[in-house]
Amino acid sequence: MTGQYDLVVIGAGIHGAGAAQAAAAAGHSVLVLEQAGVASATSCRSSKLIHGGLRYLESGQFNLVRESLRERDILLRVAPQLVRLVPFHIPVYRHTARRPWQIRAGLSLYAMLGSLRRQAWFAALPRAQWGALDGLATENLQAVFRYHDAQTDDAALTQAVMRSAQSLGAELVVPGEFLGAQRTAKGYAVRYRTPQGEAESHCMALVNAAGPWINSVLAGITPQLPATPIELVQGTHIVLDGPLQRGVYYTEAEDGRAVFVMPWRGMTLVGTTETRFHGDPAQVRPQNTEVEYLLRTFRRYFPERDARVRDQFAGLRVLPLAEGAVFHRPRETLYTTDAASPARLVSIYGGKLTGYRATAQKALALLRPALPRVRARADTATLTLSP
Ligand SMILES: Cc1cc2nc3c(=O)[nH]c(=O)nc-3n(C[C@H](O)[C@H](O)[C@H](O)COP(=O)(O)OP(=O)(O)OC[C@H]3O[C@@H](n4cnc5c(N)ncnc54)[C@H](O)[C@@H]3O)c2cc1C
Repeated sequence: MTGQYDLVVIGAGIHGAGAAQAAAAAGHSVLVLEQAGVASATSCRSSKLIHGGLRYLESGQFNLVRESLRERDILLRVAPQLVRLVPFHIPVYRHTARRPWQIRAGLSLYAMLGSLRRQAWFAALPRAQWGALDGLATENLQAVFRYHDAQTDDAALTQAVMRSAQSLGAELVVPGEFLGAQRTAKGYAVRYRTPQGEAESHCMALVNAAGPWINSVLAGITPQLPATPIELVQGTHIVLDGPLQRGVYYTEAEDGRAVFVMPWRGMTLVGTTETRFHGDPAQVRPQNTEVEYLLRTFRRYFPERDARVRDQFAGLRVLPLAEGAVFHRPRETLYTTDAASPARLVSIYGGKLTGYRATAQKALALLRPALPRVRARADTATLTLSP
């Protein structure tokens, strides 16, 4: 198979699907190469939250929170069957690190940065309602705050974005493993493997959205480009028996980290951990110590509930290498380009499910000078996404 495209996208996780949708909506011809399956890696192993990230306020990442809340609102509008608003609860105990006034201040700022209608802001629940919170422990409980954020099915959302890209003309090859790319006068010659054999396509620009494989994809590009040093951080979730009726709970583990307890397909999803990972990203698996840590946290907050583990999964965060605890690292997306002028390659490091649309727009903006002038077909901020 050979072909000529404006853009080739490597990877069909949420970022690859988002980049393909943005480029196809802008009127470009697009080829997406995916080695395993749409949403087969990180984008089916997240916490499935479409949120601003309340805890990022503590590290002053206001732009990230503001943009994520804006994207949450767009997704609530364009994907109502896939993204829905859910009540979130923050219980404050005598032992928890943050005091009620701190939670109140954080939630006030969060409400101001977002634009939900007033009723969906936040409230402190009256003590009389504490007993109806899915068996939440009430001993030493001092306050429970309720606010609203959104939940999704990450794999279904990614597939919907990919289908939207395809309906706008993007082509998807799966399995289609990127093997390498060589700079040409007008872009890149891209080699990839399909079950039918090796193929080559030509493009004016390339998006590297290979998630945890980002630097091995980069290593296959000639001339060679310096890779941004990264750290892969494993996040494990467990799925427990029994539904949650009242929404999501934002709990604090023994080491002070946030652990979400969430309703998920009639069961309870608990996550996540943060463990450094070395090795082949395809081999990431939950570790026993992580499962135990999550179970301990769950039992501490819901001592009377069933804690039978029905399922478990782990995904990898891509974080630029830096000093200090992983939990407190900035979560802004990093974009790197090749040395060409105009840039013809952009690599997307990190990012969030929530912000995929904005991320895709930024990646495309970096490549726009290398792409032909075309007439836009649609606007991703208004295109409906259906399961
Ligand atoms: C534990 C955890 C919890 C998270 N929770 C949330 C959350 O609640 N909310 C939120 O907004 N964000 C969350 N995130 C972040 C979010 O999930 C990720 O940023 C996002 O899913 C990454 O998507 P991606 O497309 O970059 O990577 P991936 O989904 O990993 O996709 C990369 C794709 O590239 C393909 N690929 C790799 N190499 C090749 C090759 N050579 N040829 C062809 N294809 C290739 C892979 O097969 C894969 O499908 C979480 C992340 C983690 C790890």
